[in-house]
Amino acid sequence: MQVVSKYSQIFSIFPHSIKPKIPNFQTLNPKIPNLRINALSSRTFNTSILTKKVLFMGPGVDPEDIKEDMVLPGSNIVVGPYAGDAKIKEVEFVKSSNKVKDCPRNEERGEFAMLGRSNVGKSSLINALVKKKEVALTSKKPGKTQLINHFLVNKSWYIVDLPGYGFANASEAARMDWSSFTKGYFLNRDTLVSVLLLIDASVPPQKIDLDCANWLGRNNIPITFVFTKCDKMKGGKAKRPDQNIRDFIELIRQNYKHQPPWIMTSSVSGLGRDELLLHMSQLRNYWNNE
Ligand code: GDP
Repeated sequence: MQVVSKYSQIFSIFPHSIKPKIPNFQTLNPKIPNLRINALSSRTFNTSILTKKVLFMGPGVDPEDIKEDMVLPGSNIVVGPYAGDAKIKEVEFVKSSNKVKDCPRNEERGEFAMLGRSNVGKSSLINALVKKKEVALTSKKPGKTQLINHFLVNKSWYIVDLPGYGFANASEAARMDWSSFTKGYFLNRDTLVSVLLLIDASVPPQKIDLDCANWLGRNNIPITFVFTKCDKMKGGKAKRPDQNIRDFIELIRQNYKHQPPWIMTSSVSGLGRDELLLHMSQLRNYWNNE
């Protein structure tokens, strides 16, 4: 199958050493067979209903045709025919807006909104994606003007840096402010292709992230879970990133009819960068052609 050979080539550029340890879904739900999600061989997947439940089918993917090497390493994402043109050649800062209605208007340009708790690694990930230092210099202090920052990529689509949530010492008023401001963006932005909700994989699931994920799910806002800091291995009894990810996915599972896409990243090692860009390309190309 053509798609498979195309992506086999893409996968083969990644050295084996950056392949992450994949969470074992056996322990997620005892009814789910031991499914290792990785690009190891091209044999046909068992496309049972259980397999489909844990994978995210990229647009245009026929579940009957899935092969293991169509699943992006370190993720549950099946890459389909819309993927391609994932390289970032140029990026320019366009503007900061403090109201949704002030955001750049161009119905042809889809956008990805980056969202997460403060300190989750959002600025680092944006800088790693665009391979430029300090592209994302968002205000990090609670109470400061909340801004939506638009970055134009390849003159054709946007990365949007949204204010972080969950400042440890933010006042109730600042929290409410964040909430109405950002919720307004999600509910009113027609050009939103997907929210990239960043979740720190070096700590156990946090209530504020689960609340945010569940709110987005309830409002049918397309989401990709981007787990950050997957390089961080704590000593002692602390859980490893893959265990935290498994726990998080288990907790949000009930609120989603279909499994949302998720991917492991590290801005320190570069893990997941190219895979995330490929996933974004398939969502974007599908959005453009819809
Ligand atoms: P933001 O507040 O979400 O924009 O977070 P930053 O990008 O400023 O990162 C917060 C802290 O986490 C900084 O100390 C970063 O160096 C650290 N950090 C960010 N990404 C990673 C990562 O992938 N791995 C590790 N180990 N640390 C990270």
